[in-house]
Amino acid sequence: MTPIRHKISNGAGKIKMKTNNDEFFMREALKEAQAALREDEVPVGCVAVYKNQVIGRGHNRTESLQDPTAHAEIICVTAAANCLSSWRLKDVEIFCTVEPCAMCAGALVLARVKRVIFGGRDEKFGGCGSVFNVVQEKKLNHRMEVTEGVLEKEAIGLLQLFFEKKRKKKTRDKSRRYVL
Ligand SMILES: [Zn+2]
Repeated sequence: MTPIRHKISNGAGKIKMKTNNDEFFMREALKEAQAALREDEVPVGCVAVYKNQVIGRGHNRTESLQDPTAHAEIICVTAAANCLSSWRLKDVEIFCTVEPCAMCAGALVLARVKRVIFGGRDEKFGGCGSVFNVVQEKKLNHRMEVTEGVLEKEAIGLLQLFFEKKRKKKTRDKSRRYVL
């Protein structure tokens, strides 16, 4: 069943409001972000959905792989393409806990993704409206729908938890140095 979506305009392109179905799949993306948090990675998660089914998942692994391209979305898009045995993901929707960066947004355009749904914005690196809007760039040969703000609080909460932990660890390490 196609969920009902209410169109709202921000002038930048097609932005649609969240639906319950979106929240369901965003919870799956949040599970991936939690997995990243457990692995001491910046907690960002992503799932790919095709015909109402998750066909790919991924979470950030830049630290464990020491690979600057090992973002949740890239891992997820690769898994989805493997699942469909096709690099064209034209009826696939991508759910990310945080706004994809310019690199990932570029990958979504190359994959011809139908829609991207994200939780929190990334004001520093966001490629879906915050810094750039790669996914709706008229000069490119493919554009997609964008839905933002789905379970934003949960997504941002995980990031805050991660950076708080990092800060505490830094302070602890510093004070230890003085003790020694
Ligand atoms: Zn990225």
